[in-house]
Amino acid sequence: MTMARVIDGKAIAGDLRRRVQGAVEQLKADHSVTPGLAVVLVGDNPASRVYVANKARQTAEVGMKSFEHRLPASASEAELLALVNRLNGDPEVDGILVQLPLPKQIGSETVINAINPDKDVDGFHVINAGRLATGQDALVPCTPVGCVVLAKTVLGKLDGLEAVVVGRSNIVGKPVAQLLLQENATVTIAHSRTRDLSAVCRRADLLIAAVGRPRLVKGDWLKPGATVIDVGINRIEENGKGRIVGDCDYEDCARVAGHITPVPGGVGPMTIACLLANTVKAACLRRGLAVPQ
Ligand code: NAP
Repeated sequence: MTMARVIDGKAIAGDLRRRVQGAVEQLKADHSVTPGLAVVLVGDNPASRVYVANKARQTAEVGMKSFEHRLPASASEAELLALVNRLNGDPEVDGILVQLPLPKQIGSETVINAINPDKDVDGFHVINAGRLATGQDALVPCTPVGCVVLAKTVLGKLDGLEAVVVGRSNIVGKPVAQLLLQENATVTIAHSRTRDLSAVCRRADLLIAAVGRPRLVKGDWLKPGATVIDVGINRIEENGKGRIVGDCDYEDCARVAGHITPVPGGVGPMTIACLLANTVKAACLRRGLAVPQ
């Protein structure tokens, strides 16, 4: 039995980071511009702390300025909005990222929409969602961009492909569907109310699973040879040990798929690499410079 080829997200993310590093060097040399990314962490969620530390480290590694801001878990919405406003006005800051989730006394939507859309490197601001939906130049959410980069790495053009996205969140499902549409795929968005989900998935040349349900997608849900991009990061207990699995049953799907992303090591590493690329893009757009490719 043939097994799917593994899409090496770690290696592809490494290539992207090297390209970002080259772009940063070019911006410094040609325009004396060093892009800066500010990351804001409210409270002490352990997973968020790890994400923020990784973002800060990788930002510095590609030669950009990294600013870290921490507020206590008890911080008020007004305090966070005041910080966001300060960063909006700070000329050294090109990208602002407020790490989610936020403590419950703070409205995430209010905070996200207070970020200057041109510094919104997470791409969650309603203006950037609107720009993406209408095909205008936008800062696009990082994980969806990463998914499309991975898919294009193995498929080249996505023109005319049947793409099925399982999940319709504002963070992954909806923006990835918009990007696939821009790539001229025929896009179906499935969700928890979809009837006969397995039959819908079997139509897919390209399946993107962003559900948050461990191993939901099985091998017999796939068209033979399909490309599978698994966004899921699910912590489970197995044989008394904690481990991370995706939204696809990897072993089972790998027997049917043509290409598949592993979890971890697939979509995950692409997210921060795309965040760094977005920060360079924001730095260029704000100054009217061409974005290095
Ligand atoms: P989310 O906001 O919880 O959205 C999940 C989506 O899946 C919803 O649209 C939901 O449908 C749908 N869904 C839930 N159960 C379903 C089922 N049984 N059948 C079909 N659809 C179902 O999650 P998210 O933020 O998009 O994240 C999805 C997954 O990706 C999570 O595991 C998350 O950890 C991971 N993630 C990874 C990265 C990364 O790799 N860097 C980044 C972000 C997220 P309804 O809309 O009908 O409720």
